[in-house]
Amino acid sequence: MLLSIEFQARDQLLERSKAIERCFRCGTCALVCPVTRYGEGYNPRDTFVYDVLSSGEPATNQNLWSCALCYKCYEVCPQDVNIPKVFESLKEIAFENGWAPANVVALVESVIRTGTSFPITDACRRMRAELNLSPFAPKGIGDLREIAKNTGLEGEIDRLKVRKVGDGEQ
Ligand code: SF4
Ligand code: SF4
Repeated sequence: MLLSIEFQARDQLLERSKAIERCFRCGTCALVCPVTRYGEGYNPRDTFVYDVLSSGEPATNQNLWSCALCYKCYEVCPQDVNIPKVFESLKEIAFENGWAPANVVALVESVIRTGTSFPITDACRRMRAELNLSPFAPKGIGDLREIAKNTGLEGEIDRLKVRKVGDGEQ
């Protein structure tokens, strides 16, 4: 073990991603990360090693949501640390605790309810017609709702929305 991790969900995270403690902070991940290259203020080494794993509650770190899950960092890591997997696990913890950004919750809700991550407006319909495309008709919405219901995701979304309204955040 090279990295010392101290926070509440430590065991929960290690259960899912055992290699994270092997990180020796070399920074190779930051050299290949496209979000670091084209974004601002994001660096997987800093976010992962310094901000996330050294904080008291890493799942509240909003930088987690900047990761594009491209897995480039994992391909080059000499220690086989799967950063996107770690971030994915932390995002799950964040979602369960109501720490996910409101736009992410809204996006998940939109996919469950309409089958798309964006609203289909009259302008979209007009443009499709002008391009001679068939009317927009997302498929599999029934299956998505069933999955959301059976996995508890639907209730989770309602719970988060109620909590936000109750907190006066919307
Ligand atoms: S490349 Fe791997 S070992 Fe190096 S800082 Fe990134 S996660 Fe840690
Ligand atoms: S998986 Fe995330 S942290 Fe890793 S290189 Fe891609 S965007 Fe960067």
